Amino acid sequence: MLKGKTAVITGGSRGIGRATALIFAKNGADVAVIFSGNEAAAGEVVSAMEKFGVKAKAYQCDVSDFSQAKNICAEIFKEFGKIDILVNNAGITKDGLLLAMSEADFDSVINVNVKGAFNFTRHLSRYIMKSPAGRIINISSVSGIAGNVGQANYSASKAALIGLTKTTAKELASRNVTCNAIAPGFIETDMTASLPDEILEKVKTAVPLKRMGKPEEVAALALFLASDAAAYITGEVIKADGGMYA
Ligand code: NAD
Repeated sequence: MLKGKTAVITGGSRGIGRATALIFAKNGADVAVIFSGNEAAAGEVVSAMEKFGVKAKAYQCDVSDFSQAKNICAEIFKEFGKIDILVNNAGITKDGLLLAMSEADFDSVINVNVKGAFNFTRHLSRYIMKSPAGRIINISSVSGIAGNVGQANYSASKAALIGLTKTTAKELASRNVTCNAIAPGFIETDMTASLPDEILEKVKTAVPLKRMGKPEEVAALALFLASDAAAYITGEVIKADGGMYA
């Protein structure tokens, strides 16, 4: 499905990013993953991707750092020679009620989740525009659509990503680049592992499919959006939430 394409996936060392890197590689894409700190985990993903016979490499970068992101993007282009697909997946939570939320917790979530996606879109678009079928996929959240108690910073960041998605879709459409957002519900990753059991139980009752999603179930949607089959879809926000906000 992605043979001959090159993809860049931020936050690719674990969770949804890791599952996306693996399914892209399995479908023939060469993949560069961006990781923030865990070199061993990034190395493991690279080895797993190489088993599919594709080129794979990991790059350490704080996505929220504009100039670091610029340098890494140039390095990736130099190494891979072209870039067709970007998945802005890196994200963090720093939950807390609005009335008690610190400025630092607000700023860091916005910086990683929104500025990080802007940085990579900004620095990679020049290369992606040269692809005959460029793709940018932003991992938003249902929290950015519906809001969520305790997530003023996170839901604001994920709503901002939807605005970024729609503008990118409009600005790059003439260059045959599509840009879409995926809004996952509750997915089994490190991000949700620390949620208290009673919250997880409440979530499962609220989800019509009565379970959390798996990273692979979000990655499968990213694969479709990255493929030629999704060529006429742009500026969309697609939920993968087990029917929670249907
Ligand atoms: P995760 O915590 O397992 O993975 C997050 C990834 O982002 C990690 O690889 C981490 O290293 C990377 N990252 C964080 N800060 C970074 C930085 N400054 N620079 C570079 N990389 C950085 O979580 P996940 O659940 O796999 O989350 C992936 C994306 O999906 C996030 O954007 C998250 O907001 C979104 N999402 C997750 C859920 C869920 O239920 N798990 C739901 C909706 C949306």
